[in-house]
Amino acid sequence: MKILSCNSCRLCETRTQIVNPIGPKDAKVILIGEAPGTNEDKGGEPFIGRSGKLLFKLLEEELGLKREDCYITNTVKCRPPNNRKPKKDEIEACSGILKLELDYSKVPVIITLGRTAGDNLINYQNKKVYKTLHPAAALYRTSLMSKIREDLKGVQLN
Ligand code: URA
Repeated sequence: MKILSCNSCRLCETRTQIVNPIGPKDAKVILIGEAPGTNEDKGGEPFIGRSGKLLFKLLEEELGLKREDCYITNTVKCRPPNNRKPKKDEIEACSGILKLELDYSKVPVIITLGRTAGDNLINYQNKKVYKTLHPAAALYRTSLMSKIREDLKGVQLN
């Protein structure tokens, strides 16, 4: 799914570009983050900065997953200014797109990264949903890395 243009919320005024989801239709998992950061806003792809690097190291080590095995998306598709958290109305404005992505996807496993993604995901009966911390949290507190590893070890891929 590719969003070509959108001005449904104020983030369109400050973004460089919409950061569209990426990944194959037959991915092994759907990863849902919070919002694009500086690197993603410049590069146009989700999780290409430091937290993405850590995320994919942990996914590879714990589940044998590579970036190209994953469908990667965000709760909101545009970077909030100064990397603040997305506001409720911004999440709401973007929620229909995420819903479409998930409704049309046959990928059976979802992993939410952090509270923004975890708290805003509606129930999906035909998918297994796992929640873990946002990898950015573990960049600031390395002790949290073991918690993410533990959560990932619990993910059943099929
Ligand atoms: N953090 C997120 O939540 N998403 C990204 O795409 C990058 C960093």
